[in-house]
Amino acid sequence: ASHEQAVVTINLESHGFKKVASGKVREIFEVDKNTLLFVATDRISAYDVILENGIPSKGALLTQLSAHWFALIDEQLPSLQTHLISTSLPKDTRIPDDVHSLLDRRTMQVRRYPILPLESIVRGYITGSAWAEYKAKGTVHGMPMPAGLKESQKLEKPLWTPSTKAEAGEHDENISPERAAEIVGEEVAKRIEEVSLKVYGLAHDYAQARGILIADTKFEFGLDPATNEIVLVDEVLTPDSSRFWPADSYEVGRSQVSYDKQYLRDWLTSTGKKGKQGVAMPPVVAKETAAKYREAYHKLTGSEWS
Ligand code: ATP
Ligand code: MG
Repeated sequence: ASHEQAVVTINLESHGFKKVASGKVREIFEVDKNTLLFVATDRISAYDVILENGIPSKGALLTQLSAHWFALIDEQLPSLQTHLISTSLPKDTRIPDDVHSLLDRRTMQVRRYPILPLESIVRGYITGSAWAEYKAKGTVHGMPMPAGLKESQKLEKPLWTPSTKAEAGEHDENISPERAAEIVGEEVAKRIEEVSLKVYGLAHDYAQARGILIADTKFEFGLDPATNEIVLVDEVLTPDSSRFWPADSYEVGRSQVSYDKQYLRDWLTSTGKKGKQGVAMPPVVAKETAAKYREAYHKLTGSEWS
């Protein structure tokens, strides 16, 4: 089991699936007109660069973590529609047996929706681009903030801080809630703000009780054309879409270590490889990083990853 290979590419196009998108870590294929297949690879990125090799099982683990959150959301916020159909593979004769094992536990079948062109970010703590803006201008996404906030400080209330959804390779742009309302309409913006704050709030408290601080997170929403309801889509509340901090080392007034990527980031920095393309992690870095993902999975789901 220690010789497990990381899966960094998945090609279902050669099996007759149309590829819809390819992100830093995921590949998205069309099952049929209304259904997509999300495949999470074991790729990992740090400082905006994808490493050459991956973290064995990362894609499966994050898919199952996302599914865990979807189930919790279903239970605690039953009125919110989500896109998840199932984490099992479609019964599709185009997928050969040997590919089944590659895809095992790393896929989500989801209902396909038109996607609202916003990243619905919620921040519970001031860090990252929000901290940079605050230091420079005293605002966060253009919103005036109280004076004297310290780096990583918990905000009095979580803030809805949307951004634009940039084209591949471009950077998302932080925008104000007012600007977001211009983009999707005031009423839709209000709804996704409310829902995002609710989901973040319940996830934050759930994770905090288990030793992980979710500093901020990004949701995406679709709009169901049949009902005009908003639908929670994409992956949810994974360390790829959120900042996870270890609760036991949290300290205001400095940057925090990343729950999952710190070992990798430290190695990249100390070896002068930060931001360079074509870098492969040595086995020890992959191993330590994999251990952090398993630890996060265990804490959050209560089950050992196996
Ligand atoms: P990055 O790797 O930086 O996140 P990316 O967002 O382009 O880049 P992915 O996150 O892998 O790459 O792509 C997922 C895409 O699928 C996003 O554009 C997202 O909006 C879209 N999406 C998510 N859920 C659905 C859905 N239910 N129906 C249609 N599109 C969806
Ligand atoms: Mg994405």
